[in-house]
This record gives sequence, C-alpha cells and structure tokens, in this order.
Amino acid sequence: MTRDNAQRAMAALRAEIERHDELYYQRQAPVISDYDYDQLVKRLQALEAAFPELVTLDSPTQRIGGRPSDGFKPAAHRIPMMSLDNVYSSEELREWEARCRRLYNGAFDYVAELKIDGLSLSLRYADGLLTEAVTRGDGTTGDVVTENARTIRQIPLRLANPLAADMEARGEVYLPLSAFQRLNAALEAEGEKAFVNPRNAAAGTMKLLDARIVASRRLAMFCYELFADGAKPFETHWETLAWLRQAGFPVNPHARRCATLEEVLAYCADMERQRATRDYDTDGVVVKINQARAQQELGATAKAPRWAVAYKFAPMQARTRLRGVTWQVGRLGALTPVAELEPVFIAGTTVARASLHNEDQIQRLDARLGDLVIVEKSGDIIPQVVGVVVAERAGTEAPIVVPALCPGCPDRQVRLVRPEGEVAWRCPETRCPTKLRQRLQHFAARTAMDIEGLGEAAVDKLVREGLIADCADLYALTAEQVAALERLGDKSAQNLLAQIERSKTAGLERLLFALGIPDVGRRKAQLLAQHFGSLAALAAASEADLVAVRDIGPVTARRIREWLADDLNQRTLARLESAGVVTRLERPGSGTAARLTGKQFVLTGTLPTLTREEATARIEAAGGRVTSGVSKKTDYVVAGESPGSKLAKAEALGVAILDESGLLALLAEADGGAPPA
Ligand SMILES: [Zn+2]
Repeated sequence: MTRDNAQRAMAALRAEIERHDELYYQRQAPVISDYDYDQLVKRLQALEAAFPELVTLDSPTQRIGGRPSDGFKPAAHRIPMMSLDNVYSSEELREWEARCRRLYNGAFDYVAELKIDGLSLSLRYADGLLTEAVTRGDGTTGDVVTENARTIRQIPLRLANPLAADMEARGEVYLPLSAFQRLNAALEAEGEKAFVNPRNAAAGTMKLLDARIVASRRLAMFCYELFADGAKPFETHWETLAWLRQAGFPVNPHARRCATLEEVLAYCADMERQRATRDYDTDGVVVKINQARAQQELGATAKAPRWAVAYKFAPMQARTRLRGVTWQVGRLGALTPVAELEPVFIAGTTVARASLHNEDQIQRLDARLGDLVIVEKSGDIIPQVVGVVVAERAGTEAPIVVPALCPGCPDRQVRLVRPEGEVAWRCPETRCPTKLRQRLQHFAARTAMDIEGLGEAAVDKLVREGLIADCADLYALTAEQVAALERLGDKSAQNLLAQIERSKTAGLERLLFALGIPDVGRRKAQLLAQHFGSLAALAAASEADLVAVRDIGPVTARRIREWLADDLNQRTLARLESAGVVTRLERPGSGTAARLTGKQFVLTGTLPTLTREEATARIEAAGGRVTSGVSKKTDYVVAGESPGSKLAKAEALGVAILDESGLLALLAEADGGAPPA
C-alpha cells in the first residue's frame, strides 16, 4: 500500500472509530459489536505500525495503551481535590442552605448534579493536549494514571479551543453497570474473583499496570469541574458545564440549574426515584452554589468546600422473607443458589429472586429458609441477599441444604461433587442436559459464534427433540428437522439455518471462546488464537506449550489440556472442522474477501467517479454485500451527490456514512494491502 493510500485509509478508520465512540458513549446507541469495534482499532493499529510517521497524537489508538507502565508516580494537586460533606435528609439540606445564607449576603442559585459512584480524576492539558491524569489520592497527592485515562474514549485527547495554556478538568470515572456485569461474567468464566460493585471495579481497573486491559474494560467518565491557569474561568458553574460539554468532555445530561432550594429538593426526589433506571451507580445528588463569587466568599473548611454538599440517597435495600432456594446449573456444571423471595419493591422494581452466590456465602450469612433477609440492589445488577435479621427469627427456620443429586439431570441420578479448593458444587455428568443447553446458548451468544435466533427457546426445543448433543450437531441440522420443531415456521427455520451457516466464518478467536473450554474467556481465547493460529495447533499443544502463552498459568494450562484430551471434545472438534467451520486465524491481509465479509453496504446518490454497478462489484469483491434498504444491520451507507432519504435514515440510525473516497480507502485497505499484524 502506498503512503498516500495508507494515510487515507487511516483517516477513514480514525473517523469511523471516533464516530463509534460517540455513538457508544455520548448517545449510548452503539451500532457495532465490541468485537467489530476492536477489529477497526486493530486495522488502524496495523496501518500505524507500518507507517509510524503517520501516527497522530490524538489517534484513537493512543487510547489503547502501548505497553504496561512500571507502576505509578505520585503527583501533587495544584488545587486540592477536596471531598464533600454529606447530608442525609431534606432538613439537613435546608440547614446547609441557611448556613450559606448566613455567611454570604448576595444572591445565588444552585446547580444540582447526580453524584456518580466512582473515583475522582484530574485531567491536565498543556496547550490543549492531554498530558497528565492524576487520581484523587489523599486529595493533596494522587497517582499519575495518564496511560489508563487515555483508554477512556470519552476523554478528549486534545482540546480544539483551550481557554488557557494550562487547563485542568475534573470528574468522576465509573464503570457502566452493563460493562461491570460483562467484566464480572468474564472474570468468573476465567475462574477469577469478581468485583463486589462497579466502584471497586473502576478503582481496581484504574490501578492496573497494563493499559490494554484497562481499555478492554470500557471505563467511562463524567466531568464537572474546570480550571484555566489554576482559576475558575467562568462566573457560574452552569457556564462551566456548558463549556465542558461543547469542548467535548462528557458531562452528565441530568445536571439542572435550580432557582430555589425547593426545586433542588424536587430534583433530588426525582433522581432518587429514577436511580435504578440508569446504566451507572449514583449514590446521591451534589448540590452546588452556582455563582463563583459566592463560592469564593464561602470558601472551605479543612476538608470540604462550604458551597457544595452531597445529598445522599437511601441505600437500595429492603427486607423480605426467604421462601426457598433454587439451584441453577451452569454450562460448566457449577451450581449457583438463587434465593426465592417474597416479592418486594426496591428502587422502582419488584424483586422476587436474588443471588446467594455459593454455599460458603450461605454459611457466612447463616441464611435459613423462612428467614427475614436484607436484599440489596445496585442499579440493574442482579439483587443480592446481603444479610439476615437474626433478631426476627421464630425458631422454625430450616437450614438450606445443598442437593446431593444434580437438579439439571432429571433422568439420571448424578451425584454432585465439590472439587477441593473450589467454592461451587458441580455436576460431573458430561451428558447433563442442562449443562448442554447452557453450553449451546453460550456457543450461540453474540460475543461467541453470534447465531441470531438460537436463543433459550430454540435451544430447549433442539435438545428436547434429541437433535443436538453437542455444538457440532448444529451444523448437521436439516431444514426438515428445524421446520418440524414445534411452532417454528418455515421462514424462521430458514433464517436459523442461514445464521448457523454464517457462523462458520466467525473466526478462530470467537470459536475458542464459544467452545466453553474451562478458564478460557474472550481474552484468553484471543491470546490462544494469536499464539497458535489454528485449532489443530492448539489441540496438539502440550501443557508446557500452553504455559508459554502470555497470561496462561499452570492451572489454566492443565484445564485446557484436560479439555482438549477428552474423547468427546476431540470428536466435536473434528466434526466442526469437517463441517467447514473456520478453525484458522485469518490474519489481516491474508485474504481479500476476509476483510469486509458480512458487512452490509447501502448506496445512495451519485458517486463522483464510480457507477453504482462498479461500486457494487468492488464491495462484493471485497466480501461485502450491497442491500437496498437502510436498517440497523447496515454497516455503511455510501453517499454521493443528491442522496435520498436513505442518508437521513442512516443518520437517524447512527449508521456509518462514507463518501466515495472513504469507500475507496476502506476497499484499498481490505484489498490485502495491510501489513500482517
Ligand atoms: Zn447434571
């Protein structure tokens, strides 16, 4: 690829990545999967590796973190990062207001903002470029975590119009609840310890030395404070928020300017009611006096400013009766106890089930059937039983007994086992139908082989009819078999088969994750795929070979080896291979059709040089498809002169829009021109 072509391709990729960042973070409306996003970044990285002189400081790849840092250096805050005083009731908030009025005679109003439950971060810009990010630390000195902060895609790496040579923005870094759940699921799948709550996860992530892992966890941020040359640049806090927003900083959209304390109180009540509907944890409302002048006069105590206060929400807990415990069987056979509760209303939803995690947790809580228990909810995370009200016991409560036989194996008597050192009981039966159903659902999941239409109901039917005993059986299904399934019409049967067919090209990384090998989550699947390059090479690997892979320890290596050595698994792998499932890593540039495979394009308007037929032919030659209507599944709309309503629709749906040169850049890059990664 020529330097010019590379530059164009890189510009197109950067624009596309930034567009997806915006859709993901500003509009919360992503149009591509995380996996596809990562592929875009990888393509850009590959190009940048080949043309290092074309790397720009504000390239999205600079957020990924090149190499692990060697620990964190401390840095002093020029202006201390103070904490806030808390109030817990409207009376206390009124007292705070009265104190402010006593100490300051002028007029003022308020800005009320959600208090995000995360960790505070200071971002420093020199001549508009992000140069340093520092954690709050003890308020005087924090850790320099610039590499990690760069991975937060919402944070501008460069300011278009800085107010001063020295700018500082402050805000709260948090982990969205959806990302928190994904992270914990992945950690658990890899046999690692899950985080207790999103705040711990965010704090733990910010302290990681490998920025690449930080990047994968998708931290987010809301900014709420600004200094220019060490001083507040605006007369009001409201103007500060407006400037931050237009400068590209993430600002929470729920901030409100309130003329009176009554308005503030109404806002607090609204926010507390809506608390459970957000994708991030909030633990209260920060109420600030809007006018900088009043703030200055009110000043601060040794610990906190007098002009701001945190109104704390009540904890999202409730008491209810524990009626029973259901033991759920996971895809690796682990049993999870789920508390069946007398339904109780907590923060906007009725809770009837809650997690009890494992047998040890039940013992720690000393929970018994019939107990009055404390249930806690954190956003939309699965509610948990966090305590027992022992004082309320009647004496008739019964102990919770772990079943001796697998509840997921109804036709056989299968004794559960608890391997030494593990917290969970497991079903050891390879033919356990519940494990099979869970494995198949995992195999078909969006992050695995991505077989749309193979959800819980379809899997249940296929397993019940005896059509499927492992994932390889999916590829042997016939149209008649699928159509004969109860209440599955011809059309959805065909769709399902088409989706199964399409999944053959999902690629080695996804396949290794989808197989459900113990300890192999998405990240390890990726590492294994890149290290071995093919399923055959992995299957032939010894324990020593596996340990040589970065981040694979001896325990994981043994588990992988055991899984691969299993007769049934070997047969499954052989059948997947002969069914035509892609089991080799497709390296960038190794095939022309690989790059845009499955991507859907829509053409609209007249392109400057290409006819519609030519454009279609070139897209198809690169593996893409051209369709007529714009939908959520459309990957790119190529717009020329006088585009029709398709362009408006694409904009409304947030579909990536290319002009002819953008298309040509994408095609040039897909045309095997990219260097191997
Ligand atoms: Zn079982």
